[in-house]
Amino acid sequence: MYPRGSNNVQLNFSGLGCWLTLFGMIWLLGAVGLGWLVKSIAVLTGLVIIAPVIGFLGFRWWLGRNLVEGACPVCQNPMTGLNNLQTQCLNCGTPLQGTRDGFKRATQAGTVEVSAVEIDEDGASKTVTVEVLPPLDDPN
Ligand SMILES: [Zn+2]
Repeated sequence: MYPRGSNNVQLNFSGLGCWLTLFGMIWLLGAVGLGWLVKSIAVLTGLVIIAPVIGFLGFRWWLGRNLVEGACPVCQNPMTGLNNLQTQCLNCGTPLQGTRDGFKRATQAGTVEVSAVEIDEDGASKTVTVEVLPPLDDPN
């Protein structure tokens, strides 16, 4: 039994009011049979904290499996890309396909590229450069 004249207890509570309210709410929810709500909120909070960690680890695992490091088959420029994804060589602009073994040209073997067409106004001078690409070493 507390003496009616004393306010010391209330003064001590003022700093902890926030926490007491929180614990009071949890206790109240548990008392009225809503303990599952407290538990589900705790589980949700845990998921919110854990999900990004799992996502990050999963992404790292996926990246480790699908990251392709190799050299451009045309200009030997070192490259990084993703497996089964088309990319382009930053050095020579050749379209490339990432595979587990490295990079391959995305174009078929024997593709004819016309690299430059220049026609003067009078039509007297024409310069047409046709380049036949070398076939792939690997017939696959
Ligand atoms: Zn290249």
